[in-house]
Amino acid sequence: RRAAIALDYSNLNPEQRRAVLATEGPLLLLAGAGSGKTTVLIHRIANLMKYGRGSDCDEVPEWVGEEELNALESYVANPDPARKEAAERLCRVDPAVPWSIIAITFTNKAAGELKARLEQMLGASANDIWASTFHSACVRILRRDIERLGFQSSFTIYDTADSERVIKDINKDFGLDDKSFPPKTILGYISRAKDAMKLGADYLKECEKSGDFRLTKIAKVYVEYERRLREANALDFDDIILHTVRLLLNFDDVRQYYQKKFRYVLIDEYQDTNHLQYLLASTLAGGRENICVVGDDDQSIYRFRGATIENILSFEQQYKGARVIRLEQNYRSSRNILEASNAVIRNNQGRKGKELWTDQGEGDKVKCYTAMNEHDEAQFVAAQILSDLSAGKAWKDHAVLYRMNAQSNQIEQAFKKNGIPYRIIGGIRFFDRAEVKDMVAYLCAINNPNDDLRLSRIINNPPRGIGATTIERAQDLALQTGRSLWEVVKSAREFPELQKAAPKLGQFTEMMEDLRRLAGEMDLPAFYEELVERTGYAAMLEQKKTIEDRTRLENVHELSSSIQNYLDNAVEEPSLSGFLDEIALYTDLDNHDSGEDCVVMMTMHSAKGLEFPVVFVVGVEEGIFPGIRAIGEPDEMEEERRLCYVAMTRAKERLYMTCASQRMLFGRTNANRPSRFLGEIPEAYVEKSGRNFRSENESGEGGWQPPQRRVRPKPVFDRGYSAGGYSSGYSAGAGSSGQTGQTTAPAGRGVSMSRPTAAALPNFQKGDSVVHKAFGKGLITGLTPMGGDALVEIAFEKSGTKKLMLKAAAQHMT
Ligand code: ATP
Ligand code: MG
Repeated sequence: RRAAIALDYSNLNPEQRRAVLATEGPLLLLAGAGSGKTTVLIHRIANLMKYGRGSDCDEVPEWVGEEELNALESYVANPDPARKEAAERLCRVDPAVPWSIIAITFTNKAAGELKARLEQMLGASANDIWASTFHSACVRILRRDIERLGFQSSFTIYDTADSERVIKDINKDFGLDDKSFPPKTILGYISRAKDAMKLGADYLKECEKSGDFRLTKIAKVYVEYERRLREANALDFDDIILHTVRLLLNFDDVRQYYQKKFRYVLIDEYQDTNHLQYLLASTLAGGRENICVVGDDDQSIYRFRGATIENILSFEQQYKGARVIRLEQNYRSSRNILEASNAVIRNNQGRKGKELWTDQGEGDKVKCYTAMNEHDEAQFVAAQILSDLSAGKAWKDHAVLYRMNAQSNQIEQAFKKNGIPYRIIGGIRFFDRAEVKDMVAYLCAINNPNDDLRLSRIINNPPRGIGATTIERAQDLALQTGRSLWEVVKSAREFPELQKAAPKLGQFTEMMEDLRRLAGEMDLPAFYEELVERTGYAAMLEQKKTIEDRTRLENVHELSSSIQNYLDNAVEEPSLSGFLDEIALYTDLDNHDSGEDCVVMMTMHSAKGLEFPVVFVVGVEEGIFPGIRAIGEPDEMEEERRLCYVAMTRAKERLYMTCASQRMLFGRTNANRPSRFLGEIPEAYVEKSGRNFRSENESGEGGWQPPQRRVRPKPVFDRGYSAGGYSSGYSAGAGSSGQTGQTTAPAGRGVSMSRPTAAALPNFQKGDSVVHKAFGKGLITGLTPMGGDALVEIAFEKSGTKKLMLKAAAQHMT
């Protein structure tokens, strides 16, 4: 019986269709950016649920489309000899049930999108498909069976910051200093050991054998780290995959259960899987070998985290008889963007080599803008967006991509000044804020009493007179007696060392026990409110009354929206531990809700798999992108170039790449040369603007020279106003001669504002009617001078009241 699913393959090209219909056996779909890999994956799942293996065939008939597929049902009644064979095959339908399909992708955001698109095609039954990230799938598997590995199923998940704190503690106890043994470095070693499936003891043996003194120390830290996590019943991100693989490999019945359950295993972004993830995928698909992996060797950008391109390159050897399908048509980008990206990636040696084509129009050229400094760059981006908006685009059509999170700051400020709504993905995430971590720590400690790390975080927070010495003593006692911190604190009276603190500790444990009881009785949102009050956390913030504390209080309350969100979307019976799982795996990519209209900002890494009409790649300078570490390191340079390819190919209609003649970053001003990647784009696809293009030939082949890193004093035109470069980029337009140099002709108000003086400010007054390019008609309702600029409040007819900085706003207002 066929499910009532509406499928239409008529939009797919023949190769895509072939990949959709080839349901059985191993399949590698290897293709460049924007060629429809993810699209195929989604159609494949839909097809599995509608026809299952019935559709599998090597020769895909030209005519397989929804109409024909439907017609097959009546074939028996009205046989047409020309279609007999294919029709018979297609009539052997064997739909797969949703829970027999597991689709794994790299980011939560991508997993969410996958689910949404499946739901659109398949209706509610899509909910039962395991469509998730590696980590969420593994957490699900572990919650069921981790007890076999000696953990409790209520385990906690430690994020990277948590792990670092544990390492720091161990370093302290071991007398190792954080400078010679940086926690991040140690975690790197641990992570690589885990990727090779080495537990602490094995790793230590190996290091001791090698006689490497330093490594042996690190291995000892690993052993202790492992012990502490186990004691706290906690898993770090790598453990989640490692223990799942161990579980599947060591317990036949568990393995068989999942191999039987999952008829089809599909993996997107396969080029970024590491060894453990590969093991996981191939184990899950172990029985039937119905494994479909999708990827692009040119977009492998996580080698630094242990991802190995080998997984994709050796797929054909791994699975004899695997079908390999390549896609060559790009459907995402206009031709100039695609050709420019192709030209850049062509400079890499180690690639399989493939070229994409498009039948879309040429579109706009890639716009390369050289800014005077980082302010100018940010203002340029803001101005382009505002002008797009007046031309009918939405905020969410725009994405700003950068190499490092730290680069977001300037852009953010320019957006704030101009009233541009934006959302940062990554960076300081909501869940990284101290107050949010505090509340989550309470929840974790309530959920899992053995979570020592979280317990130490909140035991005296808000302050309840439990001093640092007491906490340290209790921690020592826990270590000595092999009990958890909670047990020690709870039985404080038994320990002479804790006598004095015992009453306070008693009050604390009583409160926690009450809360634990309430957690079992109340629904989550009500419980959370109770928690915020009873712990005294809200009261502490309310007392302080600074702006920061108000924001903190808002964040504390904001966590309840996450709880609500979780309840609204929970697939399984909602629970406190379910909620904690979800947020532990929550990278900020989830925050990017494409329904919300705002500009998104993120690192190039986070942008993988996404697409936007207009993309700004900022900071395209030697020393930043490619990063200083990659210069002189051919392998790393190739990885940076792949990242550049990923970034460029996110753009559908328009791609901007910007650099600055000098830039302040991390408190230092550097003069970087434009990135070699810009030089790799043939002139024909580029339109240059901005200041100080060195020369045409510099962008030719081999014209690049090592960057000169000169440290200059902080520029006097720091705010980017006085030297005029500020308005050059957009108002003077693109003098594409490549020698545009400094600001050309003044173009309207924008330039008059580039020397903002007291004289310019009075141009606008309270009560003035204005027209803003992006926000439309409005009335100035307030004007407060602020250090050479002014904060202007404007009530716009359509966009509501906004507070803008006058200098920035004036450029778009008449
Ligand atoms: P990436 O490598 O960046 O992950 P991808 O190969 O997964 O890209 P998709 O995201 O699936 O590519 O598709 C890129 C764009 O092309 C999407 O907007 C998709 O809707 C569109 N597309 C895919 N296939 C077709 C097709 N046959 N006809 C028209 N549009 C298509
Ligand atoms: Mg994709």
